[in-house]
Amino acid sequence: MARYTGPVCKLCRREAVKLFLKGDRCYSKCPLDQPNGSLPPGQHGARRSKTTEYGKRLREKQKLRRVMGLMERQFYRYFVKAQEAPGSTGETFLRLLETRLDNVARRLGFSSSLAGARQLVLHGHVSVNGERVNIPSQGLKVGDRIEVAAGTRNNAFVQKSVKTIVSRGLPSWLEWDGQGAELLGRSQDAVDLSTTPLAGKVKSWPNREEMSFPVNEQLIIELYSK
Ligand code: SF4
Repeated sequence: MARYTGPVCKLCRREAVKLFLKGDRCYSKCPLDQPNGSLPPGQHGARRSKTTEYGKRLREKQKLRRVMGLMERQFYRYFVKAQEAPGSTGETFLRLLETRLDNVARRLGFSSSLAGARQLVLHGHVSVNGERVNIPSQGLKVGDRIEVAAGTRNNAFVQKSVKTIVSRGLPSWLEWDGQGAELLGRSQDAVDLSTTPLAGKVKSWPNREEMSFPVNEQLIIELYSK
């Protein structure tokens, strides 16, 4: 599957909002926190001003597409699927994205960024219900159990990311499984991950407030429904 491989901070500058594409680094070294850092990229970026109604909807769609790191065709397929499903198209659309395997691995803290979580899955370091899966787009269901392979537990990036989530906590629709659950809320120094299986479960479907997307999905639906 094709994917964007250019500079990612440029994407945040284009949308004029932090999209947290680099995980933990976005909290410490973000150009958008610098003076003039939020100017749109390009030689004439600062001059662009007029935004039409269509432009607003387009920007909202691009923002979400960039957060998810998807190309247009794959992103649009999620919209079509959501439209065909019963219930609110906007919420279903976001839920389909939120419950992708790579995003759930990120939300469980196995990686601090979506790109990192996708890499973990692609390289076969994650299993779902006991079976190794290397498809980041796999949709998960309530009750599915996701686990990091035993050999990957000691990876420095995984450990750092998990320790961060231990102190930050999990969204309410996910839970850590087994021994790992006992670690939540402890201080980072008191956590020993070398012997703890890293696994989590989808407890329930996330509702809109629990999803991690800083977008107005209604504008995206309007853009695609024209
Ligand atoms: Fe770069 Fe992260 Fe800041 Fe976006 S939020 S500009 S990816 S550091």
